[in-house]
Amino acid sequence: MRLLVVEDEPDLLSSLAEALREDGYAVDEAADGEDGLSKALLCDYDAIVLDVMLPRMSGFAVLERLRVRKKTPVLMLTARTKTPDRVRALDGGADDYLAKPYELPELLARIRALIRRAAGNATAKLKIGDVTVDVAGHIVTQRGEVVALTAREISLIEYLAQHRGRIVTREQLYVHLFDENDTTLSNLLDVHVSNVRKKLGHGFISTHRGLGYCIE
Ligand code: CA
Repeated sequence: MRLLVVEDEPDLLSSLAEALREDGYAVDEAADGEDGLSKALLCDYDAIVLDVMLPRMSGFAVLERLRVRKKTPVLMLTARTKTPDRVRALDGGADDYLAKPYELPELLARIRALIRRAAGNATAKLKIGDVTVDVAGHIVTQRGEVVALTAREISLIEYLAQHRGRIVTREQLYVHLFDENDTTLSNLLDVHVSNVRKKLGHGFISTHRGLGYCIE
């Protein structure tokens, strides 16, 4: 899953992006509203974390312009004391808000919920045959046993599992699993797919020639 974080406070931006990467997300960063909007329009993120108070263009203005074109799930970071901000965020098309200062586990849970809802899944545990994908804990089990997987392999499985039954193109996977900082060397999609098949069975991910991959 690929996220965009728009936050002008450098320490907050880097610590949040780092925490999200540690949780397995590909993360792009923007330090002002204009940059945030242009990235949000250019790339189909799985979710956007958008601060309200931003230089060059406020979070509200970014949201307003984004909503003309896209439905990307947006979590807005608002000031705790300002109720009107929260109302304005939700009415302006934000899918959720979190007041600053926030607790990281709550932010992570809210992002998971946004992504889950956007994909039409009601719970964080997805069952595929004898495999269970726990999107909250980033744990994959097969017949009750935890399967040892790399963070990238888990991201790949989670993305395909959230879009279960639909063919996901290679291009879509590149967009959603890797961020702007990833080098091409880490982008070896076929290797990740092949490794997942070795661990979970060849039929777990099917290839649709010329179209993409699918978890049936
Ligand atoms: Ca700010």
